[in-house]
Amino acid sequence: ENIYRVKRWGDGYFEIGQNGNLHITPDPSNTDMRIDFKAVIDEIKQEGIQFPLVVRFHDILRSQVALLNKTFQNTLKEAEYNGGYMGVYPIKVNQMREVVEEIVDAGAPFNYGLEAGSKAELLTVMALNTNTESLTILNGYKDEEFMRLALLSRKLGRKTIVVIEKFSELVLLVRIAEELGVAPIVGIRSKMTVKGRGKWASSGGDRAKFGLTISEMINAARYLEEHGMADCLKLLHFHIGSQLTDIRAVKESIAEGAMIYSELHRMGFKLEYVDVGGGLGIDYDGSQSTNDSSRNYSMQEYVADIVYGMKQVCDLEDVPHPILVSESGRAITAHHSCVVTQVVGEIKAHGAGIATKLVDGEHVLVSDMRELIEIIDNQNNLQEIFNDASQFKEQALHAFKLRVISLEELAKIETLYWQIMGKVQLRIKDAEFVPEEMQELDYALSSQYLCNFSVFQSAADTWAIDQILPVVPLTRMNEKPTINCSLVDITCDSDGKLDQFISEYGISNIVPMHDLKPDEDYYLGLFLTGAYQDVMGDMHNLFGRLNEVHIFSHDDDPKDFYIEEMVHGSSVEDVLSIMQYHPSSMAKSVKKMIDEHVAQGQMQPREGVKWTDFYEDCLKGYTYLKT
Ligand code: PLP
Repeated sequence: ENIYRVKRWGDGYFEIGQNGNLHITPDPSNTDMRIDFKAVIDEIKQEGIQFPLVVRFHDILRSQVALLNKTFQNTLKEAEYNGGYMGVYPIKVNQMREVVEEIVDAGAPFNYGLEAGSKAELLTVMALNTNTESLTILNGYKDEEFMRLALLSRKLGRKTIVVIEKFSELVLLVRIAEELGVAPIVGIRSKMTVKGRGKWASSGGDRAKFGLTISEMINAARYLEEHGMADCLKLLHFHIGSQLTDIRAVKESIAEGAMIYSELHRMGFKLEYVDVGGGLGIDYDGSQSTNDSSRNYSMQEYVADIVYGMKQVCDLEDVPHPILVSESGRAITAHHSCVVTQVVGEIKAHGAGIATKLVDGEHVLVSDMRELIEIIDNQNNLQEIFNDASQFKEQALHAFKLRVISLEELAKIETLYWQIMGKVQLRIKDAEFVPEEMQELDYALSSQYLCNFSVFQSAADTWAIDQILPVVPLTRMNEKPTINCSLVDITCDSDGKLDQFISEYGISNIVPMHDLKPDEDYYLGLFLTGAYQDVMGDMHNLFGRLNEVHIFSHDDDPKDFYIEEMVHGSSVEDVLSIMQYHPSSMAKSVKKMIDEHVAQGQMQPREGVKWTDFYEDCLKGYTYLKT
C-alpha cells in the first residue's frame, strides 16, 4: 500500500484489494459497492476492445457532484448562512458530452449549473442546461455573437449570467441588450490582488489576464446605472487559479472578495451572488502538502473557509449573505477516469552485455575491470571500487577513440562495469549512509517499461507542466515489485516518458513494478486523468484519441458492473483526415503501385489483393500498437 500510496490519493475511491488487484468504490458512502479492476479488464478483453483505453467510472462522477453540493449544503446549514449555494461545472475541464450529461443529471437535485468560457462552449451549455433554476455562467472573452447568444438564452428563460472580463464587453452587452429589449444578468470579474499558489498563480494579481480593477468595477456599475440597468448587476466573480495548493490563498481571496461585495452593496448595487471560481485542488501525489501536485486541505475545509469567511465579513459589514457560486471542475472530474495501458516490453538499463571470459592477450584495462569484480564481495570500501570502476570506464572510452582497444574490448569493459555497479547497488541498499554519487545508481540501473500509449495524448500535463499523476499496476499488488523502472511511451520523442512517481519517500524518478511474464499481460493504470488530461491531449506522431469504456455499477449487485457504452477512439483514417490527407486517395495510390508490380510480374495477383486489403484495413484501424 505504501509503495504507491493508493489510499492517500484514492480519496476513498481506490484501494488495493486483498487479492492484490486494484479495487474501486464508486460511492464511498456505500462501501459494499466495490468493483475489481481486473474483472473490468477481463470483460473489456472479452468484448474485443483494444487497449490502450480510457475507463470512465460514471458513478464516481456522480459521487463527486453530490459530495460537493452536499458539503456546501451541510456547511451552510451548520454556519446558519442565509444565502444558498448554486454551483456550476466549467465544461472546459472536460467537455466530453457523456461527462457533461452525467454531471447535469447528477446535479439536477441541487440545481447544479454549467459554465462556459468560449462561444463553442456557450453553444454547448445552452443546449445542455435545460433546468430553468440552475445558473449558466459565461466567462472568457466575448464578441457580439457571444452576447447575442447569451441574450437569446435569457429570452428562453435561463438564468444566464454574462461575466464581464474587460470594460469594453459591458458596452457591447448593454448596446445589444437595449437593441433586443432583453434585460441581461451581469457579473463582473474582479482582478484580485491575492495570488494563488501553485502552477496557475498568474490567474490572480495585478498582471492577471482577466478581470476589472477596483476602479473599473465602480465605473462598470455606474455605467449600468446610467443605462437604467443597475439592478442587472447581480454577481461578483473571482478566480485566482486552478489547483490551489495552499488553503491560505483561498482564505485571503474570500476575505478580499467579501469586502468588494460588501462595498458594492453599500454603494447601492444589490448583488445577489458571489462566484468564487475554481481552484479546489486534488491530491495527485497523496502528500497532502503545498507542492504543485497536492494541496494542504480537504474539500470540507475548502467549503468551510468559503462559507464562514463570507459570513464573517458580511455580518461585520451588515450586508446580506450572497448566494455562493463555485466553479469547481478539477475536483468534480479528476477521479472518474483513468488510462489503462499495457506494458509491451522492457528496455534494460545497459542491454544484455556480452561474454567477458578472459582471453589471451587482453588489454590491461579489461583485466583491471575484471579484477574489481573478483574482489568486490570481500571489499568493504565500496567507494574505492566505485571510483576505480568509473575511472577505468572513462579510460577505456578514450583508449577506444585512440584505437588502443577494440570495440569488443570496450563492450567487455562496459559489461563488467555495469555488473560491478549492480553489486554495489545491492550492497548499499540497506546502508545507513550512501555517498551522493552512488545514490544515482538506482536510476542508472533501472529499466524502462515500454507502454502502449502516448504521453502527449493521454497525460499532457505530465509533459507540459510536470504534473504528477499516480501510476499503478492494476494487479499483483500483493507481490513485491522487483523491477525499478521509469515508463516510456511509444511516440518517437524522448519527452514521451513518465519519470516522476509517487513513492514511499516522496517523489522518485523510478517506480518499482513487477517482472514481466511471457504468458501474462501486465496492465498499468494512470489515474486522476478526468480533469483537463482527457481533453487537452494532442496527436503527436498521429496517435489519436483512445477507445473509451463507460462503466456503471449494478444497482442490485454492488460488486457487479456493466460496460454501458464503448466509444471508439480515432482510427488512422480519422487522424489523417484532420491533417488534410485523403485516406481513400492514399489507398488508391498504394493500390496503383501494387497493381503495377502485379502487371510487371513482380507480385502474384492474389498476393497483390491481400496487400491492398491489408493497407486499407490498417487505415481503418486503431493508431496504437496491436497487442
Ligand atoms: N473557472 C474559471 C474562470 C477558470 O479559469 C477555471 C480554470 O482554471 C475554472 C473555473 C476551473 O478551475 P478548477 O478546475 O481548478 O476547479
